[in-house]
Amino acid sequence: MVFAHDTGLALQSAVWLANSAQDPDTLTSTEQLAAFFVDNGYTGRLVGDRAELEDVRALRPTLRELLTSSRDEAVEIVNRLLRDGHALPQLVRHGQTDWHLHATDDDEPLATRIAVETAMAMIDVVRADEMSRLDVCADEDCRGVVLDLSRNRSRRFCSTACGNRAAVAAYRARQA
Ligand SMILES: [Zn+2]
Ligand SMILES: [Zn+2]
Repeated sequence: MVFAHDTGLALQSAVWLANSAQDPDTLTSTEQLAAFFVDNGYTGRLVGDRAELEDVRALRPTLRELLTSSRDEAVEIVNRLLRDGHALPQLVRHGQTDWHLHATDDDEPLATRIAVETAMAMIDVVRADEMSRLDVCADEDCRGVVLDLSRNRSRRFCSTACGNRAAVAAYRARQA
């Protein structure tokens, strides 16, 4: 893996969140947020109410901005998110997960924890000068964020749906 395990996971979940705001929105219910929480291995407090959902939804434009910005712009956003979230990095080990970083308390609001966790992951991306691992989908009609953690940097589409659409279009172009 290009980055530490927890960095990769945090980036993946931030990309999922940013892309969930694309039409059709795939984060509109507390059930969807609970599924996101479980699927992405979050621990700590999940209130499960509408206010928590709205806070996470409201964070999505910031995540998108962070994930698609230039390196210098990313630094400003990272530092702001760390300051606002009162980040305090601590190595922790729990459940099946070996030593990794937490920088907020488990009972902080979920949106704060996501913001800080994404910022912590972006520290690695900025320091390794690997912003090129993040891009916008190669499909002209899609604004999805692409995270490419592959060794040969081959990923161009945000989803298999976008990749398949491009493959079909290329096939049709050859047939014409
Ligand atoms: Zn953890
Ligand atoms: Zn796409």
